[in-house]
Amino acid sequence: MTESIAPFWHVTVLTLFPEMFPGPLGLSLAGKALEKGTWTLEKLDIRSFTRDKHRSVDDTPFGGGPGMVMRPDVLDAAIRDAKTRQVAAGLKPGRIVYLSPRGRVLDQALVREIASEGTLTLLCGRYEGIDERVIEEHHLEEVSLGDFVLSGGEPAALCLIDAVVRLLPGVMGNVETAGEESFERGLLEYPHYTRPPVWSGRAVPEILLSGHHEKVRAWRLEQAEKITEARRPDLWSDYLASRPAPKVKKRRARRASAEPTKTTATPDGNGGSHEG
Ligand code: SAH
Repeated sequence: MTESIAPFWHVTVLTLFPEMFPGPLGLSLAGKALEKGTWTLEKLDIRSFTRDKHRSVDDTPFGGGPGMVMRPDVLDAAIRDAKTRQVAAGLKPGRIVYLSPRGRVLDQALVREIASEGTLTLLCGRYEGIDERVIEEHHLEEVSLGDFVLSGGEPAALCLIDAVVRLLPGVMGNVETAGEESFERGLLEYPHYTRPPVWSGRAVPEILLSGHHEKVRAWRLEQAEKITEARRPDLWSDYLASRPAPKVKKRRARRASAEPTKTTATPDGNGGSHEG
């Protein structure tokens, strides 16, 4: 959480399907940031680095078995070209990530780390994956989106880029949002409510209409803790281990939510608070 986010970020994507980029990232906040030049994207078509007349990027696996494997010589040429172009553009080539189900599972800490670096290269696999020697030769860092198998690295690359870009300065409207969100403090997020205050017979929790910022904060923390404990035992045990003085904090939070709510609600029924 300590890294500072780069003011400007570049990503080079190596893919057999360059037309998939920027794809959804050309729209909405990421798209606007791309237009403004907060981040830049270069896509290189892996097929353009083939030298044979069939333009083949893959071949059968040594040792037999199903499927095809992406050739090391073709990928090597693509990676070298990506670096050359980055240097020519005045960028310092940074880490090279191969999207792969065998990799370290992407989390917010890694997203932040990547957002703090100025340049990233992403290699999208297809077929059965890529020749192992390229991973060794170029010290590729394998990153996975989760324990499932995609047909290619492109959707994973889009997700990773999306998560990074929204952290870049000026991309999200409300800078406050980032610190309170799921994973930022080791907890899942508290539940959200908006107008109308009663919907389908369900009322918004009273405390949120109280306008009492400190109580709202304590209630939200308590909710975030409950949800995390129930849904993600892995995050919960890390949170408990890293929390400075858990017992005192928890008692204070419980006491705050047990106190009767003050009637300081503003006419808009939203407690006048627009934070988070
Ligand atoms: N044979 C491989 C799966 C290949 S899937 C295996 O069993 O591990 C084809 C490509 O999709 C991979 O090379 C990788 O780039 C991408 N891919 C698949 N699942 C992924 C995941 N969970 N995270 C990131 N990339 C993934």
